[in-house]
Amino acid sequence: MDIIIHRSSNHPYDHKLATFKYYINRMVILPITEQAAKQEWEKIIAMAHNNGFPEQTVQKLRKKLRNKRDRPMGTQQPQQCKKRWINFTYYGPAIRKVTNLFRQTNLQIAFRPTNTIYQQLSQKGTTNNNPSGIFQLKCNTCKEVYVGQSGKTITTRYKEHIRYIRHNNPTSAYAMHILNNRHEFGPAEETLKLLKTCTKGKRTNCWEALYMHIHHKRSTLISEQQVNDTNPLFDLAYIPRDLQHIP
Ligand SMILES: [Zn+2]
Repeated sequence: MDIIIHRSSNHPYDHKLATFKYYINRMVILPITEQAAKQEWEKIIAMAHNNGFPEQTVQKLRKKLRNKRDRPMGTQQPQQCKKRWINFTYYGPAIRKVTNLFRQTNLQIAFRPTNTIYQQLSQKGTTNNNPSGIFQLKCNTCKEVYVGQSGKTITTRYKEHIRYIRHNNPTSAYAMHILNNRHEFGPAEETLKLLKTCTKGKRTNCWEALYMHIHHKRSTLISEQQVNDTNPLFDLAYIPRDLQHIP
């Protein structure tokens, strides 16, 4: 029980204290011998020490939890009318300036960090056979391409585009291109190509814009697709070798 969220990490402070709260509360409320409680306390102090927390912090917490234990039943604060929990993304302590504004309301704030090492390292849900990410759809007639992104697998997204065409629904730029020009699309093996595996997130839009830019520059992007992001930095971007000969 030695490694917990380190005090220096950018997690909400409550999250960092949660482990101590749990262990100290367990020590305080369980009917154990004084000796056992002392041993437990030493472990908790060591854990605080190893993870950057001053001893004072856990001492304060112990005092608070003991007081809570010793308070006679019935004097606990009455549960106020049911509060609704809402999530706030935690960026750093400054976010409390915003959430404090909700103190007088019926809303209870829960913080959720979105940039933990676990989140950075874990890739959700996709396999190499059927990934999500940036893809292109080629027109079989004029060989121009549409660039798209998908949080679902790209095959699923391909099928959706084909459904638009079949239902005469020019919702997507690709469907519009095929329908308006009476051009042809092919099966996924011919038409669909993965350009970049990535999971949904901020970077996805950037990758998508880069690929659109590449095709636009080569005049291989279908005219129905609008290039909104004309970031001059894209001209400087290093294009990996395997992309140099798309489509
Ligand atoms: Zn075409």
